[in-house]
Amino acid sequence: MNLPPGAHWHTLPEPEALSLLASSPAGLSQAEADRRLRQQGPNRLPTAPKPGRIRRFLAQFQNVLIYVLLGAAVITGALGHAVDTGVILAVVLVNALIGYLQEGRAEQAMAAISGLLAQRAAVLRDGHRQTLPVEQLVPGDIVLLEAGDKVPADLRLLKAHDLRIQEAILTGESVPVEKQTEPVPADAALGDRRCLAFSGTSVSHGQGMGLVVATGTRTEIGRISGLLAGVEPLTTPLVAQTTVFARWLTAVILVVAASLLAYGYGVAKMPFDDLFMAVVGLSVAAIPEGLPAVLTITLAVGVQAMARRNAIVRRLPAIETLGAVSVICSDKTGTLTRNEMSVVTVALPDQQLVVTGEGYAPEGALSRDGAPVSADAIPGLQWLARVAALCNDAELQYADGLWRTEGDPMEGALLALAGRAALPPGDLRATWRRSDVIPFDTRHRFMATLNHDHEGHAAILVKGAPEAMLALCRQSFTGEGAAEPLDREAWRRRAEAIAGEGQRVLAFAMKPVAPEQVVLERSDLDDGLMFLGMVGLMDPPRPEAVDAVAECRAAGIQVKMITGDHAATALAIGRRIGLADTGRVLTGADLDRLDDAALQQSALETDVFARTSPEHKLRLVTALQARGLIVAMTGDGVNDAPALKRADAGIAMGRNGSEAAREAAELVLADDNFASIVAAVREGRTIDDNIRKVISWTLPTSTGEAAIIILALLVGMVLPVTPIQILWVNMATAVTLGIALAFEPTDPMAMARPPRPRSQPLLTGALAWHIVLVTGLFLVGVFGVYRYAMAQGHSLELARTLAMNTLVTMEIFHLLFIRNLNSVALRWSSLRGTPVVWAAVALVVAGQLVLTYLPSLQSVFGTEAVPLEAHLWPLVAGVLLFVLVESEKQLRLRLRRQERRVI
Ligand code: ADP
Ligand code: MG
Repeated sequence: MNLPPGAHWHTLPEPEALSLLASSPAGLSQAEADRRLRQQGPNRLPTAPKPGRIRRFLAQFQNVLIYVLLGAAVITGALGHAVDTGVILAVVLVNALIGYLQEGRAEQAMAAISGLLAQRAAVLRDGHRQTLPVEQLVPGDIVLLEAGDKVPADLRLLKAHDLRIQEAILTGESVPVEKQTEPVPADAALGDRRCLAFSGTSVSHGQGMGLVVATGTRTEIGRISGLLAGVEPLTTPLVAQTTVFARWLTAVILVVAASLLAYGYGVAKMPFDDLFMAVVGLSVAAIPEGLPAVLTITLAVGVQAMARRNAIVRRLPAIETLGAVSVICSDKTGTLTRNEMSVVTVALPDQQLVVTGEGYAPEGALSRDGAPVSADAIPGLQWLARVAALCNDAELQYADGLWRTEGDPMEGALLALAGRAALPPGDLRATWRRSDVIPFDTRHRFMATLNHDHEGHAAILVKGAPEAMLALCRQSFTGEGAAEPLDREAWRRRAEAIAGEGQRVLAFAMKPVAPEQVVLERSDLDDGLMFLGMVGLMDPPRPEAVDAVAECRAAGIQVKMITGDHAATALAIGRRIGLADTGRVLTGADLDRLDDAALQQSALETDVFARTSPEHKLRLVTALQARGLIVAMTGDGVNDAPALKRADAGIAMGRNGSEAAREAAELVLADDNFASIVAAVREGRTIDDNIRKVISWTLPTSTGEAAIIILALLVGMVLPVTPIQILWVNMATAVTLGIALAFEPTDPMAMARPPRPRSQPLLTGALAWHIVLVTGLFLVGVFGVYRYAMAQGHSLELARTLAMNTLVTMEIFHLLFIRNLNSVALRWSSLRGTPVVWAAVALVVAGQLVLTYLPSLQSVFGTEAVPLEAHLWPLVAGVLLFVLVESEKQLRLRLRRQERRVI
């Protein structure tokens, strides 16, 4: 199937290219395509090889903290403290293990995402249009292109209607290239091979059809790069900020530790051995070594949760933005509605019909004033149905007892209408062949085709928004060869009435032309078009959208509907999903009349925007942002890309959206459903909460543990918890309690709070105060229990064991407090905990019991069996900590009621 030597795809006429690849304009057969796929391999570029497990595990050791720890291990080893050395090495291992685990999680999350983002292409096989993952394309396949698509393989173009392709990734040239089908000279440069379309380039305009001539690494882009871009690391600004913060903190701690060492050895004349161990213990405790890894796990868990809710994050920083979104601007069709269209009304010059039928089945019935009518008896209907079926790119397919649409659902409904009007669309298409097309564009809101039948007739067929069509037509069709002046005002009123029912209104027109004409120009529509009538299409609102809109409102998020549809249609649908209580609608034309300041005000006050074009979306985003709102904006077309880029969270449609919109977006909806946006916002808030919870638990814990040693060293008293015990506690709690918060479910209050202000700093005043408070309580608890035990005449070992258990118990209760951080009231539901939390707590408690009672460990860690009743003291300390911090929180919340945020 290769080219003969010296030949090029761009020099071959189309028929030769087709025959070389043993293909035809109807495409390959499925069996042949399968055979070629096995032979040629999938149409994809290989990814860079991943380092093996061992390499990745070893990579975890490349970090300053680990070097410090390893240094400490060497020194303790040299000092002969074998046990301490062992524990330090265990800390190193545990740390590497969390890092490794986190990477695995992150990778899984990213893989789940990229699988869902697979690019798809419209392909003809066995003469039928199909949408396939691009990986399945083979040489010889026939691919359909339209504006917004990414070219899925190298193509020899067979049709090009005003087709323009942006080839910057190959040629660096940012101006789109006008494509055509004529062969070009052999020596034409890549950018001049105008009859080829290259894999990875983007269709910026028009329509086309091409023959796949190369796939995978054999494409031009495959030859240049050969590899897919590597995966993005899993991080967000807040996590990056935390990582930097942790690094600085480490530096500060090391300085403090060195000063303490100098002071203790030089000034206080402490024995070096003990002092060194204490300083190592405090450093390891204070450095939040696990924090970045745990935050990444939190993100990974969140990204996976979002993907399960059909929201696929393309740019990870958007996770944070989503949690802070304060207004969602959504498309109507397909997002707030189901995009399951059916024609229910047909308006002809002299009468109005009601259409019934199941789904997209091209059979059904027509009635007038409740009485059935026969389609043949209505002459005007014939042409309307013809235009409906021919000025149409969709296809109906019957499978498993169900009629489905391949292509635009609205066009599918029009095909069904043709069938219901006794004109089977398949027959129509066989008779009337299309020779040219002006594709639909939201800017002009119509689509036109030029069709020829076998008997020497030719006609231009147009369908589009009623206003656009009424502007194009001067006459109304009243029978074959007959016309009368068009009563625009009357039609406008009828359109308004149908739209008021929530139906999308579409108008049709046609113009007979000379059979010789094979090229369609915009100017051909300027005169002679005859208005045929209109149809009203029902597209029911998604029931879940109603709840989702209500949920947004409760969460302080405004919802705005932005549609290209008629104002009356938009308003009727808006009302049904709980928007537009004010009944205000602004149209694109209204927006054009407003200056920027007036637009900002109107954008805030209005929920429904109709007859808008992509430029209006951009203006609206800008206006809302100027008022300090964080804007999520949906889009599906090529022209939506600027608005999606401008929005804080651009959201593209995964099913019906164009590749161009997807690439401009931060988030892709796998099901195009508005409810999934709201689910993503909820997950965004959950991730945000959990990240802050992880930080709010980890920092006070680290400082608390370190403060115990620092205080003891400074006042020169015996350590209430030995360095090796601190090392143990630090390690044991990091892998259990530390990670548990990453898995916290969505707070019941998550969507009952106003959005978080943007760019809140990591270390807020409230968090700093919380660190001080909890550190203080840790000191009081640990020293209190220790002193009390000593005063009771217990041994030093027992007192230390109790002090260590107190520390751990307080950490557990602190965790329980943090879980409940954002709830105003203390509710059982938020206290009950999750399996992850209880498993973590159970593990930690079991670890402490083993350390307390197992004789072999007692000798290693210097612990002593605790009498049963003495377990009460750590417990009391823990409960007291909980009561105190919780009361302090309640008090603060009462003082600043409206904020409902603690940290
Ligand atoms: P939406 O915001 O609901 O997706 P669009 O911008 O897609 O709206 O469509 C706006 C209007 O353009 C529709 O109300 C309809 O009148 C017209 N229209 C939409 N799609 C087509 C098409 N394929 N051919 C002709 N007209 C169309
Ligand atoms: Mg649309």
